[in-house]
Amino acid sequence: MNIAVAKGDGIGPEIMDAVLKIFVAGKVPLEYEFVDMGKWVFDKGFSNGMTPEAKDTIERLGILFKGPMETPKGKGVKSVNVTARKTWNTYANKRVFQTLHGVDTVFSKAGIPIDVTIVRENIEDTYGGVEHMLTQDVALSRRFITRPGSLQVIKYAFEMASKKNAKRITCGHKSNIMKITDGLFLDCFYEVAKEYPHLKADDVIVDDLCMKLVTRPDLFDVVVLTNLQGDIVSDLCAGLVGGLGFAPSGNIGDHICIFEAVHGTAPDIAGKNIANPTALLLSGIAMLRHLGLMENAAIIENALLYTLESGVHTGDFGDKNTPSANTTQFADAVIANFGKQPQHGAKEILPNKPITPTVFNLEKNPMLITEETAAEKIVGVDMFIESEEQPEVIAQKCLRHAGVKFSLVSISNRGTQVWPTGSKFTNLVNQYNARFESLDGSALNQQDVIGLYVSLSGNFKICSLELLNMWGDKKAYSLAQGQ
Ligand code: NAD
Repeated sequence: MNIAVAKGDGIGPEIMDAVLKIFVAGKVPLEYEFVDMGKWVFDKGFSNGMTPEAKDTIERLGILFKGPMETPKGKGVKSVNVTARKTWNTYANKRVFQTLHGVDTVFSKAGIPIDVTIVRENIEDTYGGVEHMLTQDVALSRRFITRPGSLQVIKYAFEMASKKNAKRITCGHKSNIMKITDGLFLDCFYEVAKEYPHLKADDVIVDDLCMKLVTRPDLFDVVVLTNLQGDIVSDLCAGLVGGLGFAPSGNIGDHICIFEAVHGTAPDIAGKNIANPTALLLSGIAMLRHLGLMENAAIIENALLYTLESGVHTGDFGDKNTPSANTTQFADAVIANFGKQPQHGAKEILPNKPITPTVFNLEKNPMLITEETAAEKIVGVDMFIESEEQPEVIAQKCLRHAGVKFSLVSISNRGTQVWPTGSKFTNLVNQYNARFESLDGSALNQQDVIGLYVSLSGNFKICSLELLNMWGDKKAYSLAQGQ
């Protein structure tokens, strides 16, 4: 089977060469097609950081094993790492954090074992990077949390947890504040949980989750989160097991999967052959298991665990009184330990499965839609307007435009209501939300909204607007603080 390999920038080529050397010595039945991605590809003028040939090869082969890549700063280009994950819909980012014997941490010294798998949603959230300045003072980021996108990643997390006989699956979220977005993610979590009654499913607010992870990490097993919260929590977990040098990741999609280390290009140590290849090796081992190469994965993982237990270490960890191995020497030590059994966490050598086909031909872009059952109606509109006037003055102007269809129900500033009630102690910025609802709760149409927009634009610059929808008897919008 062929897979695509991109060595990456900085320490990428050094650690990738080390890992592939281990794979070749371990007789892993894979062939590697090297593709051009990363900083030097940006520099050649390819604005998405990859050549068209690289894109074609990855789409043809379905698996990309990649080293870290640098995003050129200040050139207005987007990260090739994020582009790759999003373009190919690798919706679940799976990161396994386990106690590794030989890697000293606060927890290993205290005898507290860690085995936490973080599943981070990988496409949505603020990572769409859809951002605007609404006024010269006010920036807005759109945070997309979708039902189909949430269901994809949550179903993956439950299926994976079920297969690994997890003792617990936890949803991390902030739905006490972001009731609509994180609330949707949490609803999807409990909807999927019903299909897995044998799994203990619960949820923890993300700040509390962080506190609990650093005090009792052994209480957690699989944790699923939205993109940004997952990003932060997974780096926190990397810290629990010894740092970024030990944090592998798999970006899982239905058609294309990307395996890479969590860490970056480490420019401070690049070109010195001293980087720790463990995170990339663990990512590669996860890739072998994903492909069904169970025997190769177990032999290599046991050799790695044995190597760590025996005290071999690169400069970034381990006993400072013993000399560090360089990247190549570390790889050679792993190879020399093929067939050895580690004392802790030895993996059972299971036979390789027939390789899972990874070649898919899609005729068109898949459209993800879940069934909508509730009746929809527009009951109002939020008009985001620019103004440096006081709330009462704005209200008087807005009231003149409400006409016979709308009533002005509230004015808020940065999400806090300042009219009809509010406090003089609330600081204001030059962008308000004037909320108009239909006079008697009856349905409005888009022409009504446009009529209001045209009228209101006589007095204000309207920066943006959002419809207020009802799905059945459920409000599909949040209330302002104090409304
Ligand atoms: P980094 O992860 O590259 O480095 C942070 C620190 O960890 C540095 O001190 C580095 O020396 C050390 N480190 C990282 N990996 C190591 C390893 N394998 N062995 C030993 N030490 C290691 O983070 P950064 O400095 O913030 O980012 C550098 C570049 O990497 C940036 O351009 C960033 O955009 C990119 N990046 C890429 C990815 C990716 O490709 N997925 C991820 C993160 C950052």
